[in-house]
Amino acid sequence: CGIVGYIGHRDAYPIIVKGLQRLEYRGYDSAGVAVYDGEKINLAKTKGKVEDLKKKAESSISLEGNLGIGHTRWATHGVPNDTNSHPHYSNSGDLVIIHNGIIENYESIKKELVKRGYTFESDTDTEVLINLIEEVQKTEDVKLGKAVQIALNEVVGAYAIAVFDIKKPDEIVVAKLGSPLAIGVGEDEFFIASDASPFIEFTNNAVYLQDEEMAIVRLGKEIKLRKIKNDAVA
Ligand code: GLU
Repeated sequence: CGIVGYIGHRDAYPIIVKGLQRLEYRGYDSAGVAVYDGEKINLAKTKGKVEDLKKKAESSISLEGNLGIGHTRWATHGVPNDTNSHPHYSNSGDLVIIHNGIIENYESIKKELVKRGYTFESDTDTEVLINLIEEVQKTEDVKLGKAVQIALNEVVGAYAIAVFDIKKPDEIVVAKLGSPLAIGVGEDEFFIASDASPFIEFTNNAVYLQDEEMAIVRLGKEIKLRKIKNDAVA
């Protein structure tokens, strides 16, 4: 399983797909990609290989855009199929997530979200997490970074996640506990990946998140790692 993300001035799609191929050695059963074209998110996902994803994406969606995330899944909650593949949207359609790992207490969180009117397309723990983030964003009236921090403090489990919000397309929020996550820092661009292999050809400046750390990866800003438990996140 693996994650790849890009924000900057290049086309995100080719970087993501190539990156996913470099992470294939980690093992997976499905793959997916979401690219923001300036107006909407274009998403393709499939059970099978990254090669299958390429075929599907390149024949069905617009692949333009300088912001995107991609995923190879090793199913833990929900069978390997197209719907359970990542990325996953929140109910509003504004937030999108990729996740490696397990949210152990997803069932109780899901119950609570269902009570509040949330619906779920997939059987994954991941779709619960992105809707929890959305619910926090709404009820606490906070920005994405803060909402991710609050949500992760309610979660038991392991994760490397990357999330973005089309209302703020100049940033990707990342966090890590258990699964690996690296940020490649280029000039006016950032790469996100499970290891440095997807971005080694673009930059040798890599920042590795430690467990229980998160970062708001924002264009024009320096990377500042924060503790999920107790650092102030704006
Ligand atoms: N628990 C998530 C799922 O089953 C992520 C699995 C992974 O690490 O790829 O969808």
